[in-house]
Amino acid sequence: WQGLSARNTNEILQLYSSPGQQQTLQRNAIVTQLHRAIQRLKQDLRSLHSFALELSKDFQHQCKTYLYQVLTVVQRIQLQNEAMQMFQLKAFDLQQSLQEVTERYEKEKHKRRALHNSLVELRGNIRVHCRIRPLLPFDTAAGHTVPQERQRNFSEKVAYAADDETILVKCNRPGHASINKTFQFERVYNASESQDTVFADVAPLLTSLLDGYNVCIMAYGQTGSGKTYTMLGPQLEKNSVFSTEDESELGIIPRATQEVFRLISEKPPGSYLVEVSVVEVYNNEIFDLLAKDSCGRVYGVRRDVVTTREGKSDVPLLTYETVENASEFLQLVNKGLQLRVRNPTLVHAHSSRSHLVVTLTITTIVSGDNFGISWEDELTSQKLNREVSCTLPQKIRENKSTFSSRASSPASSETTEKLKQIKTKLQLVDLAGSECVGMSGVTGTALRETSFINRSLSALADVLAAIAEQRPHIPYRNSKLTHLLQDAVGGDAKLLVMLCISPHQKYLAESVQSLGFGTRARQVQRGQVKKKNLPVPSKAK
Ligand code: ADP
Ligand code: MG
Repeated sequence: WQGLSARNTNEILQLYSSPGQQQTLQRNAIVTQLHRAIQRLKQDLRSLHSFALELSKDFQHQCKTYLYQVLTVVQRIQLQNEAMQMFQLKAFDLQQSLQEVTERYEKEKHKRRALHNSLVELRGNIRVHCRIRPLLPFDTAAGHTVPQERQRNFSEKVAYAADDETILVKCNRPGHASINKTFQFERVYNASESQDTVFADVAPLLTSLLDGYNVCIMAYGQTGSGKTYTMLGPQLEKNSVFSTEDESELGIIPRATQEVFRLISEKPPGSYLVEVSVVEVYNNEIFDLLAKDSCGRVYGVRRDVVTTREGKSDVPLLTYETVENASEFLQLVNKGLQLRVRNPTLVHAHSSRSHLVVTLTITTIVSGDNFGISWEDELTSQKLNREVSCTLPQKIRENKSTFSSRASSPASSETTEKLKQIKTKLQLVDLAGSECVGMSGVTGTALRETSFINRSLSALADVLAAIAEQRPHIPYRNSKLTHLLQDAVGGDAKLLVMLCISPHQKYLAESVQSLGFGTRARQVQRGQVKKKNLPVPSKAK
């Protein structure tokens, strides 16, 4: 074939057309060559054919394999889809039963809490709530009230709310094996829980207040742990203790007042009178922050606390101001608390160096004849309304001066000819910082302050211990603080201690000390809390 290809067509045609033996030989040779070439071509064609066959077989085989694989995958996907649907159904079922269980759990928890509260009431236990504040920039800044050597290597958060009744503290002090301690309280608030949430748990106590119980809410904790924030709210403006710009940030004191006035607005008009006193206990002295000078300006006056013949504590000449609504109250308390800002020498410069006691005295006017009879009785209610709104408030206002500076115990009840006054007290206390600052190196004012704070807080702990052990003598008079709070601490009030905790490691010792105080307070049983003998208004629970 290659030989043939070397000659051109004309040459071959010439060979065939020319006669002679030579040409015949040449022709035969070409035919032979052509024949061979054809044979080779045929062979190539055959092998090409078989190669194509093989290729197609191979292709078919591969196609089958892939098809099989695709089918398998599709089948698997279908199975998986079915399984997925099953799982989805199961997950849906589980979700539903989880929701049911959660709802049941919440119901049970509420029931348990209600039962626990009843038990607390029957035993006269002190309720203890614990609030962990968030970590704040000053926690990591050097120098804040904690000695330098204790600040080294401490950058961690160590106090956590394990659940809403348990606080967990990681006690990993240098040189000691790390241990986790847990403490149980009636309620534990984590750092993200709002003022709203905290107040929601306090609000039922205010219903109790109008139902005739004395109530005391007391914030305990070291300086900077959030006592004032919890009781009053953030201290933003220089000239105002309450920042009313953001109502959601208001603390227990302003909210409690709003709630008291809201509850009063649901009662027969004119049957309640609200008076306020603001007292500060500083260096074991009691200061009346609402006392006024001859020009009517607010100034702090030293007062004393005495025990009345009925065994109640009383502050003679203490100023009680009547307030008609929450904003009047806020203005008044604001003015009183301004003393600390404007007159630091008279009282002191730092709020956490004193105990603040804001008291709302609620006077309920009830008919002597119908004392103890339900107001659901329409006639009685009308009579009471008439008498109360026409006679007594007027009387009270006429005698406001005696009301404002009286010596009698606010918790006592006075009987007139037909009408009777019942007084219940709401005491809201922001205690001084509970940290035990070392005395070495502290002199003068700071030394006096520290020793008085330490003494008054240990007097409070001693009083609680004496009550817990049911000792015949309770040492209320060891400090002005305990003497002033005698009625609240000693069993005549529903008492709630709000423990405030800084979660940072550098305050570990103070936090554990506060938690110990709270735990001991919880164990105190003071006997059933007494209710003043009030008629049951139709709207009251
Ligand atoms: P204390 O009265 O115990 O000395 P403060 O109430 O003054 O402490 O709180 C110290 C700082 O921490 C304040 O700046 C306060 O605004 C802030 N703080 C306290 N508790 C909280 C909280 N729950 N959320 C946000 N900030 C808080
Ligand atoms: Mg404070």
